[in-house]
Amino acid sequence: MDKKANLILLGAPGSGKGTRAVAICKVLGISQVATGDLFRKNLSENTDLGKLAKGYMDRGELVPDDVTAAMVKERLSMPDVRAGFVLDGFPRTVNQAKMLDDILSELGENLASVIYLDVSDDEIVKRLAGRLVCKNCQAPYHTEFTPPKVDGVCDKCGGALLRRDDDNPETIRKRLKVFHESTYPLIEFYEKKGLLVRVKSEISPKGLEADMRDILEKMGLLK
Ligand code: ADP
Ligand code: ZN
Repeated sequence: MDKKANLILLGAPGSGKGTRAVAICKVLGISQVATGDLFRKNLSENTDLGKLAKGYMDRGELVPDDVTAAMVKERLSMPDVRAGFVLDGFPRTVNQAKMLDDILSELGENLASVIYLDVSDDEIVKRLAGRLVCKNCQAPYHTEFTPPKVDGVCDKCGGALLRRDDDNPETIRKRLKVFHESTYPLIEFYEKKGLLVRVKSEISPKGLEADMRDILEKMGLLK
């Protein structure tokens, strides 16, 4: 590896952040840090953080920045992350991006790149409609694009595949609105810093992992 892969994956809900993040982590041997997954884990374990996050998530709103940043800081302080990380779902506001800068400088880390998944709203609605997630291990699937080997069963752990509570039309519309209003300005924020890499959502016939290898190679993260 040329430089340390501390990465952010930026994209609308349903842009394929989760599946891309998993592929990047596999190719580079680094850790995925997905705030949505961390919140859902707290929800299922009924922790105080989970109880706090639930209302926001059900409404498709953002959990407050300070709460989210504290959770991210704790996760980024864990030893496995020292090999590199892919942040998936954080930051989502310019304020969170500034908080991330502080967290990273405290940890003595830098960002390598911010990968932006460019997907149209039409495509997003189509994708969210087919999205499934493993009840056990949170692995993402899609009925059309990345189906499991056996219907309704996770390839990795055998868990049941479910539709997420917040993948209903009303909450989807709200999450897209939040993305356009709050998260979209981050594209310019990171472009100005010279960190932004735009990636089209289409996956070539070679497959997602091969595509990600090509992208990471071009970025100088893979020899
Ligand atoms: P998606 O990107 O498909 O909307 P996520 O799993 O990333 O899904 O997030 C689900 C929900 O978790 C969000 O709608 C929000 O309520 C909460 N959440 C996740 N990441 C953040 C964040 N960085 N800041 C605030 N809330 C977040
Ligand atoms: Zn699973």
